[in-house]
Amino acid sequence: MYDYLVVGAGIFGSVFAYEAKKRGKKVLVIDKRDHIGGNMYTKDIEGINVHMYGAHIFHTSNKTIWEYINQFTEFNNYINSPVANYKGELYNLPFNMNTFYQMWGVKTPQEAKDMIERQREKYFVERPKNLEEQAINLVGLDIYQKLIKGYTEKQWGRDCKDLPAFIIRRLPVRFTFDNNYFNDTYQGIPVGGYTPIFEKLLEGIEVKLGVDYFKEKEALDKLASKVLYTGPIDQFYQYEFGVLGYRSLRFEHEILDMENYQGNAVINYTDRETPYTRIIEHKHFEFGKQSKTVITREYPDQFSLGKEMYYPINDEANNEIYKMYKEKADSETKYLFGGRLAEYKYYDMHAVIASALSMVKKEFYEES
Ligand code: FAD
Ligand code: UDP
Repeated sequence: MYDYLVVGAGIFGSVFAYEAKKRGKKVLVIDKRDHIGGNMYTKDIEGINVHMYGAHIFHTSNKTIWEYINQFTEFNNYINSPVANYKGELYNLPFNMNTFYQMWGVKTPQEAKDMIERQREKYFVERPKNLEEQAINLVGLDIYQKLIKGYTEKQWGRDCKDLPAFIIRRLPVRFTFDNNYFNDTYQGIPVGGYTPIFEKLLEGIEVKLGVDYFKEKEALDKLASKVLYTGPIDQFYQYEFGVLGYRSLRFEHEILDMENYQGNAVINYTDRETPYTRIIEHKHFEFGKQSKTVITREYPDQFSLGKEMYYPINDEANNEIYKMYKEKADSETKYLFGGRLAEYKYYDMHAVIASALSMVKKEFYEES
């Protein structure tokens, strides 16, 4: 009946479905949730587009991907500039001249570099083995202790000495007065939120919501020649090589009867004691002027089966397990696998789109 069954109406599944339909294929998309969009889903609450699964800022340096996503929406000129609150002291992020001035009163790049050098002298290691060593190497002890240690240990539920160094290298360190959280060429928030992008991608495609693939796998599989699966890879294989580790999150949304709660879209709480990592005030993503506001507190949460999977814990043990699933997946002929859950990967949106488009080229034998 269908050429493709797509399991998951997130960005991977939706881009693939759109491109397959464009090539004349008949596609059925299912999702176990009651909405399209996966984790990029935004919901209108009090006229504000609320990012229901955490703040999503689109950023990329890939012109092709930027032009691709711009077919489906218009982006505003939002630049992500979170502020860190450490026990009532405010600091600009990412780590830049504003942060260094606020932390130490240094006014020039040279003064800042000298200060970091003094701060890391005692701890410097050539090849940082863990997040703590990497962080002190990059920005010195004070910033590590006030802006990194507490936040990271809350976020990951582990000591910084037991976390891989690469996590902290995601953040820019700059010796200019520039609070842009990303280094990418293109950045913004889609005007009207992310959900309309999915409405366009899935226009004219049959979509069934509230359908869990595993509850009727056999019957669903029979409906299509091929299946693109974007859910958790370990679940697909009934956890035969073990359960992959994740860090989960819990979101508490609140409508407040005031125009402006915190004056910024994202404020990180970097001390260890505050139980949440950040508060998002959604209206600021779109420069909203509504009389009410919606805020979300983001609490890190221990993962267990049944909870939402947010951050893959790509340590050695988990990567080994994933390798076994991947080997099996690579040998399938009816099934395709893609996206953050099936590839067990921390994946930004632009990279997921690029990966879906590259699967499309491969699947339809097109030149890249
Ligand atoms: P998903 O969006 O997870 O879609 C998979 C879909 O499959 C889901 O809808 C799920 O319900 C469905 N599914 C799973 N199992 C089944 C089943 N058995 N039956 C039916 N359906 C099923 N990226 C950025 O570029 N910028 C950001 O600022 C950013 N912020 C983020 C903040 C947070 C807190 C998190 C967790 C991620 C963030 N990301 C960000 C990453 C971004 O969310 C992902 O790149 C993107 O959503 C991945 O899309 P996907 O289609 O692979 O997965
Ligand atoms: N981080 C931190 N303090 C902050 C923000 C981030 O120490 O105020 C660290 C933390 O370890 C986090 C990593 O930097 O996991 C990457 O941050 P990013 O904002 O990219 O994380 P995400 O948005 O994925 O949660």
